[in-house]
Amino acid sequence: MVCPFCVKSKKIKKNGSYIRSSDGKRCQRFRCLECCRTFSETHFGIEYRLRKRYLNQAVFRSLCSGVSQRRCAIILGVQRAAIARRLLRFGKCSEHNLEVYRKSREKVKKLNFDELETFEHTKCKPLTAAIAVEDKSRKILAIAVGRIPAKGPLASLSRKKYGPRPCERKRCLESIFTQLKMCLASKGLVKTDKSKAYPPFIRKYLAGWSHEVTPGRRGCVVGQGELKEGGWDPLFYLNHTYAMIRDGLKRLARRTWCTTKNPKRLLSALYMYAWFHNLYLESKDKKHLSLCWIS
Ligand SMILES: [Zn+2]
Repeated sequence: MVCPFCVKSKKIKKNGSYIRSSDGKRCQRFRCLECCRTFSETHFGIEYRLRKRYLNQAVFRSLCSGVSQRRCAIILGVQRAAIARRLLRFGKCSEHNLEVYRKSREKVKKLNFDELETFEHTKCKPLTAAIAVEDKSRKILAIAVGRIPAKGPLASLSRKKYGPRPCERKRCLESIFTQLKMCLASKGLVKTDKSKAYPPFIRKYLAGWSHEVTPGRRGCVVGQGELKEGGWDPLFYLNHTYAMIRDGLKRLARRTWCTTKNPKRLLSALYMYAWFHNLYLESKDKKHLSLCWIS
């Protein structure tokens, strides 16, 4: 155990206990011998300072199953803030879990990579979500979210209404490859679409890897660009995962009322979904998918 306040100190002593008023559980307290601050065992769980702990897993599963935050609050009979608070908490926890997962898993040899486009508040303010997926297993490995300027007919309207908008695509791609660094094999195959933004990054971060480019294809279902027409899709594992993300996160569904208002919350939601997705693929017991900090 490491002290949560000064982080580095491991000199920790037991320091009594207390009974939690909300459920009567006895919790151990600890004292850090370096910064002298005290904390309890509950400090490290996802339930820390949440009184309605029995809601947590239901909120986690609902938010990853296409239920909006407001509707989740109505179904469970709680305040909207209770759900919003949990989204943030679960996002942080899932981000940590994903990092641990990248460190502990075997090296990735086949990678699919693309960006998913969405927007904050209006289509005039687009966002990009870069997501890396492992080929075959469909595990989500890394995520980054950034703002991008509007394209096409909306570009001039967007500039007039909201002013110039930064392009954070480069930062997103840098972030994705930095995250992936620890779990990539020295040689492998990366598949992407024919975007011109990717080759420089692949040369820089994936030296020794071969790069397979797939030309873009039209979607076969109206409004679902992820499912491609015309037989076998080389980017199937990626597109299938993206379709699942759009189905699982209400704010990413097409033609929805629920829009993202803050890119940071979109990132939290994506991390949460990614962890849910990986848990779902890995666990044999699909009835008890639950979120907890892993180490
Ligand atoms: Zn300390």
